[in-house]
Amino acid sequence: MDNKNNPWKKDFPILDQKVNDEDLIYLDNAATTQKPQTVINDITDFYTHDNANVHRGVHTLAERSTEQFEQAREKIQHFINAEHSDEIIYTKGTTDSLNIIARSYGEENIEEGDEIVISYLEHHSNLVPWQQLAIKKHATLKYIELDNDGFVDLDDAKKKITDKTKIVSIAHVSNVLGVINPVKEIAKLAHQHGAVMVVDGAQSVPHMPVDVQNLDCDFLAFSGHKMLGPTGIGVLYGKEELLNQMSPVDFGGEMINFVHLYETDWNDLPWKFEAGTPNVGGAIVLGNAVDYLNEIGMDKIFDYEKKLVDYVLPKLLDIDGLTVYGPHDPKKHTSVISFNLDNLHPHDLATGLDMEGVAVRAGHHCAQPLMKYLGVSATARASFYFYNTFDDADTLVKAIIATKEFFKNGTI
Ligand code: PLP
Repeated sequence: MDNKNNPWKKDFPILDQKVNDEDLIYLDNAATTQKPQTVINDITDFYTHDNANVHRGVHTLAERSTEQFEQAREKIQHFINAEHSDEIIYTKGTTDSLNIIARSYGEENIEEGDEIVISYLEHHSNLVPWQQLAIKKHATLKYIELDNDGFVDLDDAKKKITDKTKIVSIAHVSNVLGVINPVKEIAKLAHQHGAVMVVDGAQSVPHMPVDVQNLDCDFLAFSGHKMLGPTGIGVLYGKEELLNQMSPVDFGGEMINFVHLYETDWNDLPWKFEAGTPNVGGAIVLGNAVDYLNEIGMDKIFDYEKKLVDYVLPKLLDIDGLTVYGPHDPKKHTSVISFNLDNLHPHDLATGLDMEGVAVRAGHHCAQPLMKYLGVSATARASFYFYNTFDDADTLVKAIIATKEFFKNGTI
């Protein structure tokens, strides 16, 4: 398959440009994705025609924006197959969603001696909030080991999750190793021990069908900007029963039902957790991004990215001196691929690739404990999305080889 057979790339105007005199090949999708023209147009349309604050006005624009804001919530509900639309809380993103769970459910339910279980591959957003909660509450933070391929190890999960465990929080897809973790099985284990299961869906929801009822997770966090939407908008899904028991963490307008001088009644779900003026435009446009993804179909997106990985992973593994982290079997690897070239710092590798027009990320990927676990300080990471082509994959491989030659000749 080549560019001509990828019907989606042309929808993304930013990709049609030169970087360092070369065609831009954008492979930093795990950090943030590009936006299709229709989503870009929707942002302009909203601010051109419908902008108003939500829930507070009876005038026509306020009604229009409120209707679109709540419709977007329903689109997101169906996208992850949540049972109720009030289980969808708008947040700033994955980080914000996970912090809300830690500060609300965590603060209210963790006591001294309790255990919180995460894994060695977590992004700092799914690590630091739990670490800080554990410190504050004198609870124990436990890490599940990874297996040889880098998956969160189920056997170790069985040992680490005990009757003392109150919260288990695991990334559905690793932003470094590209593995899909067995979160459904881990949720089952957590429930057998009376714990709740939190899933960090930042890297799964944009790339594959995610069904919260099927996973039976209690909470799911994800970001709009990693799935074609704008920055500053994300989602916290929680089971209605749990969200109803939880207290809000931010106070102010919108989240109240009635304010008395010395006490306040909270609003109903989901607004109880949405204090202040929300990111109205962001939420509406995220709903439109969901429409775009649905039009293609999440199954199709997942299958297409699998084919890309089948194609590119063996080529990367063939490059002499390149170490690929995570599984080497393409069937087990998603479209996030981390690697290092012998004797070259990943920042130099990423700079070399940028000279060829190829945008990848280099660094610790907000996963320092994982870097330590892997015995490296950093990696380079290429992360594909459905608008990337097989030609893009070829260009990546050629650019890595060219960078290797360039540095070998000691030109820099
Ligand atoms: N979790 C994972 C697995 C991620 O990859 C990221 C972002 O890269 C996050 C959490 C944090 O997302 P955000 O910065 O959008 O809050």
